[in-house]
Amino acid sequence: MDKTKRKAIIAGNWKMNKTPSEAKALLEAVVPAVKDADCEVIACVPFVDLSVALETTKGSNVKIGAENCHWAESGAFTGEISALMLKEMGVEYVVLGHSERRQYFGETDETVNKRTKAALAAGLKPIVCVGELLWERECDITEEVIARQIKLDLFNVTADELKNIVIAYEPVWAIGTGKTASPEQAQEIHAFIRSIVANKYGKEIADNTSILYGGSCKPSNAKELFANPDVDGGLIGGAALKVADFKGIIDAFIFSSPSRIAATLISMCRSGDIFIHTGITLAETLLSFILVLTAGILLAILLWASDTVSGILEPYLVILNSLPKSALAPVLIVWLGNNPKTIIVTAISIA
Ligand code: PEP
Repeated sequence: MDKTKRKAIIAGNWKMNKTPSEAKALLEAVVPAVKDADCEVIACVPFVDLSVALETTKGSNVKIGAENCHWAESGAFTGEISALMLKEMGVEYVVLGHSERRQYFGETDETVNKRTKAALAAGLKPIVCVGELLWERECDITEEVIARQIKLDLFNVTADELKNIVIAYEPVWAIGTGKTASPEQAQEIHAFIRSIVANKYGKEIADNTSILYGGSCKPSNAKELFANPDVDGGLIGGAALKVADFKGIIDAFIFSSPSRIAATLISMCRSGDIFIHTGITLAETLLSFILVLTAGILLAILLWASDTVSGILEPYLVILNSLPKSALAPVLIVWLGNNPKTIIVTAISIA
């Protein structure tokens, strides 16, 4: 399945960082910086920051998530927060089973499953984290570990409920360590996770499940990671606390595959951004598409009607030569541009 049909997500996990006033300041900078994001943008923040985060991001494309929730609706669980409490506040997502919860707070697959079921019942969208420890990878049991986590964490989760779940693959050895899984390692495990989901829920549901990569993701490595066919975005820790890095990761995602480049250019055309760079008008752009389309149809007719190759190319080149330069601009931009700078430079030189 074409991954651009799946929901693309970049979610920040703030961990235990930012007081409410600091959270407000950070989100005030994040909101305008990511307003044109070509994916769902989520900030998962500490409980005490939720109120100000919801207020600051109101009316923007930034969604708010919590970093955990309890499985009970209410009761004698001092210090805990229920899924219902989060839902009533307006929280949309919740991170569950993060390796730091598993490592430092005794979280098990059983409790991750109970929290996941409770979050779904309350109408929250869980971001369920799985990932192997370093020694597990070194013992070559990564797939066993991931398979166990997925099966237990999603135990008794129905196919309908799975539509509201996001899975995050976070190799524990890569979290906060500066070590990143290589794009090949990430793709291998993402594809494996999708196959487990497909075995349990069927291919269609697996194809529609967003699987995020997490672990020392930064602007410099994001593009390669996100270009993988089964990587649908990222769960971002440290880099989510710096506006430029968070935005850099989102931008890397936008230009991570040819189909995404094309989709982005179309949306830039629609929003008018492309005309700022190229100086061509809407009428010229439309004309260019019509001319290119006509040329393609003519070529197809010629190929169909002609027996010899020699007679084919000549009329086609005549048509191409007769097109105004600006008519070719959008085509060349789509063809040449795989990052914003190339697109702008190409566009300026043509215009
Ligand atoms: C995380 O906390 O989920 C995470 C991926 O952290 P970092 O990006 O800092 O490794």
